[in-house]
Amino acid sequence: MNSKDGIIGLIIGDALGVPVEFKSRKELEKNPIEKMIGYGTYNKAPGTFSDDSSLTLATIDSIIKHPEIDYEDMMTKFSNWYHNGDYTSDGETFDVGHTTVLAISRYDDGVNPLKCGGGYEHDNGNGSLMRILPVAYLINERMSSEDVELIYNVSGLTHNHKRSKIACHLYCQIAVKLLNNDISLRDSINQSIDDILKYYKDDKEFDMERGRFERIFSREIFNLDINDIKSSGYVIDTLEAVLWTLVNTNSYRETLLKSVNLGSDTDTVGAICGGLAGIYYGYDSIPEEWLNTLARKEDILNLLDNFDKIINKE
Ligand SMILES: [Mg+2]
Repeated sequence: MNSKDGIIGLIIGDALGVPVEFKSRKELEKNPIEKMIGYGTYNKAPGTFSDDSSLTLATIDSIIKHPEIDYEDMMTKFSNWYHNGDYTSDGETFDVGHTTVLAISRYDDGVNPLKCGGGYEHDNGNGSLMRILPVAYLINERMSSEDVELIYNVSGLTHNHKRSKIACHLYCQIAVKLLNNDISLRDSINQSIDDILKYYKDDKEFDMERGRFERIFSREIFNLDINDIKSSGYVIDTLEAVLWTLVNTNSYRETLLKSVNLGSDTDTVGAICGGLAGIYYGYDSIPEEWLNTLARKEDILNLLDNFDKIINKE
């Protein structure tokens, strides 16, 4: 496995979306993103990535140093991102999510890392979904309950509500299918939904959340009109936007531009979409001019070489 497909795919999506985060779809229809631009929302140079990528890289760095998984270490790295600018493009932390900051503050105050994440209904932003992809490289296609527990724990460091955890589970399941099989994006999503519904068949807590995922589980999502797709920072809106975009596009470039131009939470929708699109279409499908603009590209590729040694058990 070559993690740069998915991880660079994710970081590029983040960087494409950063300059237009919070812009409405209407604004982007008039003036769409067609290449890697800079400045805009955060006044950052082209190729600057945000929290989505930084926390993904922090997770990867922690797994490299502790392949057995050390949640203390993972949270320490998240805290160092927030306070010291570790894993950022230019040393400056920006675009910080509310639920994530509260969890880091609890950790800084000495709370057990697995008890830091927000567990209320309003804690269901996309802040764990945006950084969960590294976990998919550690688990088997036939997901065991230990694998799901790992996904839950990594999500729960910041986002501990069942809804966020199910979203992370489905996302990782799709990623794992794509990593292990030569199948289409649509088939990987379809099969993953089947697997998820089977996995939770006797789970009462899941039953309470099931309705929130109904447009996904019923596959209605594949055929919705763009006007029915929100792309906000709410985890369900984000996941719907990602799945809808993936099945309605035919290349890495098209997928990423379509996802970012949905507007609203552009960088995170771009990142989460870019992770799966990167795995499916491959690193070589990422436009070279986007790669050449990416901040700290060589540092990231070096980190991913080390990550590959862990996931391939070299
Ligand atoms: Mg961001």
